[in-house]
Amino acid sequence: MTQTSETRKTWCSLCQKEVRLTLTPAPARSGQANLPDHEELVCLDFGEGCQGGDLCPISRFRPVVMGVRLARSGLRQDWKTVRAQCEACGRVSDLEVVDQGHAYCTLCGTTNTWMILELDEGGRVVVTGRRT
Ligand SMILES: [Zn+2]
Repeated sequence: MTQTSETRKTWCSLCQKEVRLTLTPAPARSGQANLPDHEELVCLDFGEGCQGGDLCPISRFRPVVMGVRLARSGLRQDWKTVRAQCEACGRVSDLEVVDQGHAYCTLCGTTNTWMILELDEGGRVVVTGRRT
């Protein structure tokens, strides 16, 4: 599993609270040349409070990026999940809900976009797509 270095605390100006940060080795995966090849800073306190912001003050990316890092790190277990077919690997599993628009497939490590469609006949279905 993932080797983690020590955790340190810092003040997050978006969440207005102290958050725990750790470094994880960047995942080594083929076929995704745009991934960083260095360690990644992961915020262990990524949550709903982050999603109102345009920018995560710690990563300097959109908050969802930090959420995906946390999902990928495997350091959190208590994700809300949504049962859907992953757009990338085609398998149906419980995708970890990173935010209202993104869910992470733990089987292949792809971030899907997701939304719930209300069907005319009643019932709902979750549809997924590639990250935009
Ligand atoms: Zn997948």
